[in-house]
Amino acid sequence: MSKLLIVTAPSGAGKTTIVRHLLQHFSNLAFSVSATTRERRAHEVDGVDYHFISVEDFKARIEAGAFAEWEEVYENQFYGTLRSEIERLWAEGRDIIFDIDVRGAVNLKNSFPEQALTVFVKPPSPEVLFERLRQRRTESEESLRKRIARASDELTWENKFDIVLVNDVLERVLAEAKAVAASFLNQ
Ligand code: 5GP
Repeated sequence: MSKLLIVTAPSGAGKTTIVRHLLQHFSNLAFSVSATTRERRAHEVDGVDYHFISVEDFKARIEAGAFAEWEEVYENQFYGTLRSEIERLWAEGRDIIFDIDVRGAVNLKNSFPEQALTVFVKPPSPEVLFERLRQRRTESEESLRKRIARASDELTWENKFDIVLVNDVLERVLAEAKAVAASFLNQ
């Protein structure tokens, strides 16, 4: 049976680096490409990083029951895991890795309790996380304030996940993530 490795974190905690590292290391692992309504960033490729779709299209897909889980992560910015994406990768016999927010991670695990492992990536301290968000900022003070408020709340979700990894020294957290994945995927 295919396995679902769900990686989640407060935004800014650096989970994308970990997901990329695991994808390079485990050849049977495939990335679940989410749908989103947010703007594509310059380095991103449609269909590879995300399926970029309109709010209208996203809402129609919610109505049609196309999502295994979805969240309005930021105001008017929807993100969701398409059932078709999971089914396609299952049909290929692949294990699947997800990079999704804390609410989505809990919901997906509840839908697939036997097959899924949730990994929460935690910053060394709240201050480090807030500083990363400030440095990454491309938006207004108001938007930064919202991201910090959201990240503070997401930090309190830690005890809802199977595994917690502290992202302090990159080399160490990557090695730990690899060990966790190897044991879960029996490789
Ligand atoms: P970003 O805009 O920085 O790519 O992602 C913002 C947040 O949305 C991140 O926490 C990311 O993990 C989360 N996210 C990405 N795809 C999905 C998804 O399909 N479902 C949910 N619930 N969250 C997602």
